[in-house]
Amino acid sequence: MNKKNHYQPDTNAVRIQTARTNEMEHSTPMFLTSSFCFDDAEEMRATFADETDFNIYSRFSNPNVDEFVQKMCALEGAEAGYATASGMSAIFASFMALLKAGDHLLSARSIFGSTHTVVTKFLPKWGIESSYFDMNDPGGIEAMIKPNTRMIFVETPSNPGLEIIDMELLAKIANKHNIILNVDNCFATPVLQRPIEAGAHLVTHSATKWIDGQGRVLGGAVVGKKELIKEIHTFCRSTGPAMSPFNAWVLSKSMETLYVRMERHSESALKLAQALESNPYLSSVKYPFLPSHPQYAIAKKQMSGGGGIVCFELKGGLAQGVRFLNALQLLSLTANLGDSRSIASHPASTTHAKLTDQERAIVGITPGLIRISVGLENIKDILEDIEQALEKSK
Ligand SMILES: *Cc1c(COP(=O)(O)O)cnc(C)c1O
Repeated sequence: MNKKNHYQPDTNAVRIQTARTNEMEHSTPMFLTSSFCFDDAEEMRATFADETDFNIYSRFSNPNVDEFVQKMCALEGAEAGYATASGMSAIFASFMALLKAGDHLLSARSIFGSTHTVVTKFLPKWGIESSYFDMNDPGGIEAMIKPNTRMIFVETPSNPGLEIIDMELLAKIANKHNIILNVDNCFATPVLQRPIEAGAHLVTHSATKWIDGQGRVLGGAVVGKKELIKEIHTFCRSTGPAMSPFNAWVLSKSMETLYVRMERHSESALKLAQALESNPYLSSVKYPFLPSHPQYAIAKKQMSGGGGIVCFELKGGLAQGVRFLNALQLLSLTANLGDSRSIASHPASTTHAKLTDQERAIVGITPGLIRISVGLENIKDILEDIEQALEKSK
């Protein structure tokens, strides 16, 4: 590995690269191989005994995957990392490797739907307890810590409600009680926010979203303290949620443009949010860098940009939400975010349709909530499409 990570982060995202082969290629080739060869029995023995850092098998390590992990570590300022097949396998591995029967997980209530399923349906099967705290009431968190609390888990900004919490405050609480602070940094990416600098011990990622940025492959990563990653690596090496070399190759190339893309996504999202604030068909607009966001001051303190997600509330509720989706011409209706193509979603009629209004309200989803993932198209076209669809759906 050509570890030039003494450069600026945006240079590292471009320049960290697997060592050149004898072919003298400029761009890293794909290492689509399940296993790796040894010159002799002694080298093989030494490698299996951890006396060398040669590759053995792609479930453990692979040059493309290592390149991706090195970039993630450099960008997040982390000591070590492991890449997984999806964001969910990264989060699941961070729980399973570090929590045991009898432990307690303290999690924010506003978390990704599948993470919520893992916490409430699966962790109890292995005797791991959990409780949820409210991100809008950080003063109440410390009182929820129990003698067996081992980890605090949080997403900031949260999906889809864009709730934000002060990571330095969480780190202070976690360190005082000797608890691991695990932050899902999917929405901000290391370009806009670096949880480890704020005191987090672990950072989990769905690379499927902004890191790929083009809606092509699934991927995930956990980065953070060496001793914690060692446990996660041991767990993953044997249980098999490894990232495929092909996906790692795609994702590592994606990271070369991550800084440029996140700047553009954030710039367009802010323009969209500002323009929609005066729209007569909306009762509210939520975006981290709008002064009207309840945690605007915290967003400004810990983020360098507001990110690519804008949420708004339609005055006409559920029925208007359905009409709005049908009236869109440019924006895609799809279950993803963080793409070069702008996407609209209406949780109340889709992902959260099975819940009652009351259950939705608890997780911050109101009937008329629309989530826009702002893409790389010209902002004029994005705004015009949303405005015409609002007009038609009124
Ligand atoms: C999508 C998402 C995940 C899960 O990632 P996958 O790559 O789909 O497994 C986790 N956390 C957040 C915040 C997400 O948006």
